[in-house]
Amino acid sequence: MDFSLGDRCEELRTEVREFLAEHLPQETIDRVHETGTAHDWTFYRALGARGWIGAAWPKEFGGQDRDPFEMTALRDELRLAGAPTDGLGQSLIVARTIRHVGTEDQKQEFLPPALAGEIIFALGYSEPDSGSDVAAAKTRATRDGDDWVINGQKMFTTLAHEAAFVFLLARTNPEVAKHKGLTMFLVPLDSPGVEMHPVHTMGGERTNATFYNDVRVPDRYRVGSVDGGWDVMTVALTFERGGFGLSDADRVWQQAVAWAKTTLGDDGTPIIDDPLVRERLASMRINNEVAKLLAYRTSFVAARGGLPTVEGSMHKLWYSESMTADAGELLDMLGAKGVLRRGDGDAPADGWIEHLYRHAAVTTIYGGTSEVQRGIIAERGLGLPRPGR
Ligand SMILES: Cc1cc2nc3c(=O)[nH]c(=O)nc-3n(C[C@H](O)[C@H](O)[C@H](O)COP(=O)(O)OP(=O)(O)OC[C@H]3O[C@@H](n4cnc5c(N)ncnc54)[C@H](O)[C@@H]3O)c2cc1C
Repeated sequence: MDFSLGDRCEELRTEVREFLAEHLPQETIDRVHETGTAHDWTFYRALGARGWIGAAWPKEFGGQDRDPFEMTALRDELRLAGAPTDGLGQSLIVARTIRHVGTEDQKQEFLPPALAGEIIFALGYSEPDSGSDVAAAKTRATRDGDDWVINGQKMFTTLAHEAAFVFLLARTNPEVAKHKGLTMFLVPLDSPGVEMHPVHTMGGERTNATFYNDVRVPDRYRVGSVDGGWDVMTVALTFERGGFGLSDADRVWQQAVAWAKTTLGDDGTPIIDDPLVRERLASMRINNEVAKLLAYRTSFVAARGGLPTVEGSMHKLWYSESMTADAGELLDMLGAKGVLRRGDGDAPADGWIEHLYRHAAVTTIYGGTSEVQRGIIAERGLGLPRPGR
């Protein structure tokens, strides 16, 4: 079997590497790391100008019609270089959802600036009391003439401090079953009544708590039908789970190998010669390879016109859980100096292993926790009954 992605993808990889050498200076990577905001406008606009935000989109939308394998190659190169891609990932989820279920006016207003890299979207689903069970959202939207009035709070609204709009899940009918009384809105984040506070996570990412006090949104910014928000969310969540490729574990593995080759142990020989170090690096490399093949499988299913829900969950569960375990192994391998952070003098591997150790745990939570992914695999993949049925 040939596991390579083919010549077209290799050509694209070369182009992406050249682009990154020009548009992703070390200062950008450092700033993203220091602020925890995985988005950079200069880089993002350059990506948009190159046509790569909408690379997978049909040409009629200004896209490049690239297939899921090419998209995997593009994403992999961005990831290996440590490029900031949160704004890209979030915005594509919303843009693709608008393309599928939005009105013509919404497509014209939002899609061109989104694909050009002029605006990004935040995702406003989670609340203090509803994350995994996102349909239990309590944020209210009530109709008032041509507007809706929003009141409530969202938690973990990542990049709300950079985004133009939040894609907000709100309750419009509290009298019916929870999945049936929800509606989605695009809420301008500069509206009067929107407030936000930064939330700094243990993994270094900055996210936000956002508050909505009598925020008025015109009805034309409602996405999908009134009380039909769950159908819109189902589309959006499928796009969220289908968009993975290589992870930070692949980049940090390369950095760990470089460190082990260039650092001498107490006996004066390179650390890479220590069998215990080699075993840990080999084990992580195998886990990364499995994660990569599971990612390619999601691309394969998507390329054949399928919805890779179970495959996406398998990949997400594997990469986040194995990355968490492997980051712990690498940290142990570094000894006492391993806990030094980037910028703390002689932090081994420039502090990236210590960062991965904190970041990996967070990846088991966002985009659906590991337990939620296991539930999807069990029920939809293996056909097991839901608990209690
Ligand atoms: C850094 C970061 C960024 C994020 N960005 C965003 C964002 O931009 N927009 C957004 O809307 N949200 C965002 N989130 C929120 C994220 O989606 C939620 O944290 C996640 O869905 C879990 O929800 P919760 O935190 O409420 O935990 P809970 O749902 O309360 O879960 C608590 C525990 O119970 C377990 N559990 C829950 N339900 C089940 C079940 N059915 N079966 C088995 N176990 C279960 C969970 O696995 C977990 O261990 C972000 C989170 C983080 C950490």
